[in-house]
Amino acid sequence: MTTLKRIYAFGGGKADGKAAMKNLLGGKGANLAEMSALGLPVPPGFTITTEVCTEYSKVGGLPPGLMAEVEQALGVVGDLTGKRFGDAADPLLVSVRSGARASMPGMMDTVLNLGLNDATVQGLAAQANDARFAYDSYRRFIQMYSDVVLGIGHHHFEELLEIHKEERGVDLDTELGAEDWQTLVAAYKAKVQEELGRPFPDDPLSQLEGAISAVFGSWQNARAQTYRRLHDIPESWGTAVNVQAMVFGNMGDTSATGVAFTRNPSTGERAIYGEFLINAQGEDVVAGIRTPQHLTRVDREASGETKPSMEEALPEVYGELVRVFDLLERHYRDMQDIEFTVERGRLYVLQTRSGKRTAKAALRIAVELATEGLIDQKTAIARVEPASLDQLLHPTLDPKAKRDVLTRGLPASPGAASGVIAFTAEEAEAIAAERRDCILVRAETSPEDINGMHAARGILTSRGGMTSHAAVVARGMGRPCVSGAGALRIDAEAGTVSVDGRTLRRGDILTIDGSTGEVMAGAVATVQPELSGEFATLMGWADGVRRLKVRSNAETPLDAETARRFGAEGIGLCRTEHMFFDADRIIAVREMILASNASGRKAALDKLLPMQRKDFVDLFRIMGGLPVTIRLLDPPLHEFLPHSEEELAQVASAAGVSVATLKARAAELQESNPMLGHRGCRLGISFPEIYEMQARAIFEAAHDATEQGSGAAVEPEIMIPLAATRRELDILKARIDAIGAEVAKARGRTLKYLVGTMIELPRAALRAGELAETAEFFSFGTNDLTQTTFGISRDDAGHFLDDYLRNGIFPKDPFVSIDEDGVGELVRLAAERGRKTRPAVKLGICGEHGGDPASIAFCESVGLDYVSCSPYRVPIARLAAAQAALAKG
Ligand code: PEP
Ligand code: MG
Repeated sequence: MTTLKRIYAFGGGKADGKAAMKNLLGGKGANLAEMSALGLPVPPGFTITTEVCTEYSKVGGLPPGLMAEVEQALGVVGDLTGKRFGDAADPLLVSVRSGARASMPGMMDTVLNLGLNDATVQGLAAQANDARFAYDSYRRFIQMYSDVVLGIGHHHFEELLEIHKEERGVDLDTELGAEDWQTLVAAYKAKVQEELGRPFPDDPLSQLEGAISAVFGSWQNARAQTYRRLHDIPESWGTAVNVQAMVFGNMGDTSATGVAFTRNPSTGERAIYGEFLINAQGEDVVAGIRTPQHLTRVDREASGETKPSMEEALPEVYGELVRVFDLLERHYRDMQDIEFTVERGRLYVLQTRSGKRTAKAALRIAVELATEGLIDQKTAIARVEPASLDQLLHPTLDPKAKRDVLTRGLPASPGAASGVIAFTAEEAEAIAAERRDCILVRAETSPEDINGMHAARGILTSRGGMTSHAAVVARGMGRPCVSGAGALRIDAEAGTVSVDGRTLRRGDILTIDGSTGEVMAGAVATVQPELSGEFATLMGWADGVRRLKVRSNAETPLDAETARRFGAEGIGLCRTEHMFFDADRIIAVREMILASNASGRKAALDKLLPMQRKDFVDLFRIMGGLPVTIRLLDPPLHEFLPHSEEELAQVASAAGVSVATLKARAAELQESNPMLGHRGCRLGISFPEIYEMQARAIFEAAHDATEQGSGAAVEPEIMIPLAATRRELDILKARIDAIGAEVAKARGRTLKYLVGTMIELPRAALRAGELAETAEFFSFGTNDLTQTTFGISRDDAGHFLDDYLRNGIFPKDPFVSIDEDGVGELVRLAAERGRKTRPAVKLGICGEHGGDPASIAFCESVGLDYVSCSPYRVPIARLAAAQAALAKG
């Protein structure tokens, strides 16, 4: 025997529950209770708890004794309405609806008008003085109940309705009368008998028992399961069931039903926004069969609609509605999404919940509610989903523009772009040089395409996932990207891309929407982002509470400028190898890599030194004295090797060696696993000249920038990649320090600088205490640390990651959101051990996780000093860091 309370009543200005009891009563039930206690016009009813759902799922049925409690609760509802359930003269009818802790729109089931049978329908007809209405309600009930509870689909009944209309010789839109519905009710019931082999249940209590069971059962339907998986809703939550006295919006022209938001959910404007239907039931609005009318006169006039708004058609009820909206918004201190019904001029509120909204609306509403004094600034900060800010930072497709959708891929990097099709990076660069927009269309991209990707307005690939090269690099650049659009057949040689029998050619225009994954033929107009007043205000509030600093990963002047515009407080990772892909540099870089001795390498490095120095001067100037972390070269060598005969010939001529010699050397350098090969500081150990050139370029640039600048001295942070041992750091730091001293002597002044390391290997994390004896800062390279901890190649994860996610082996892609238990433990441990040796060791993160809100919360918990992410994620990181600080308290 359980003594737990299973049923919570509401109505008549009272309630057993309240808004804070969402876990037990579901969102709908908790808010019905709250509204009822507030004295709002809520039809009375009761909520059966989510715990009963859990029990239902466990034992496969309703717990014993529940229906007796339900009967008792129905009695109370009857007292409040003056009707009795099953009473033939004046029946109480109820709705039965699901309501989980989190809203799951349309996922589970609802039954309306429950309690009708051949006897009670007559009572309803008499009470309403409207037989047509009563029999219409009855046939709706039979259809809905059969669908939800008995598993007999709507189409059976729609067919019967059509046959009836045909027999009557009326067209499909004709309103039917009482006798028609009465005939159809009989036909519907006969259909149920035929399909089921037993009659439609007549007894109202059995009807109710069936409906409650069905709603609890719908928690496990396939739709609900999929929705839960997509929205991270645990199965254990369960749904509550709400049983509530029916009110009717379909009792004539003074009756209506509608939905409304207290503020505009797409712009955030403080104005009621919504729709209603006269003489209709709630399901009619959802079904979209009839076109709803506007609530307000202003909206009606703006749309040019002639049918009256609710403000005009039912002015008194509208006035009351506005008062209720105001009260609810003030009470819940948030924008509300409300369902209401008007029965013969009387208003009833059936649901309220915090309304879903766009990022733009979320910002405006949060800031305005704070300004109006309804919430404080901290609450406003917590109200905006950091990741949603992405919607605001990129150009987006004009929602009014027409779209000719060809196919869909993954929404890999947000924003939208149109341009002519380019099949290679070179083509993209050539088109950009003519100041024309292009979309780079490739099966997949590689590091060599980086300039083409930069030159293109957007990137489209037919292969690769959310962490493919194209996706990661595009996000970093803030370029829209659709990846893995598998239906595309790309033939770069022929210059065609085909899908579903349509072929586009080189030079044709394509549009991609990286926020939805849509690929469209032709140009679609875009709208530029407006970093509105509210954006700046909220970001200012966030900056006031966060502890973590936010830096950006950037190497080009454009990236650095974007990062600063978005509020970056420094550069956390300048990947110097990305500075080497320019057409005029790649030859010298290849010459350097392929040189067979130190003097050959030196000749190539001499060509690169002035270019690198200039790059760094630019970065230092743009960052204006903010910290800049420059990572010494870390290329898996295969990314730089020449492929074509033409490329080989170019390098051979620059280096003054034969093509054959070069080919042989290139063959020597091939690695079977370049990610774990001759990369990172291993390169610096083997070829000291490379890091020495880079160190010199950094020091000279720092002196130049300090001398040219009017403000603070530049203090570069020089970072050694992929170290595993202290000895590596000792050797390399000694060389860097020697160059620093040499440059200082030549320039006649010393500059402060730091030498630190990335933590990208489990050994480095474990031995962090020892590494901190040499390293003055750590930057967690969690892309590699994830790769090396799991032993999963970053480049190959796409082949099986989906299987791992689907099977629940990974809760989330560990390359997107940090694996706190494993990789995170290494980070925590390294931070602790590093600090033990060197209490002031600076700690940051520069893997992709540095821009992921969940990972940022983790970084806050570990007490890192900063996160570094791609420029377009800087605002996201600022807000996420503020929320993490607030959550920590
Ligand atoms: C990392 O490994 O996390 C990192 C930032 O370096 P890269 O992505 O360049 O390997
Ligand atoms: Mg790395």
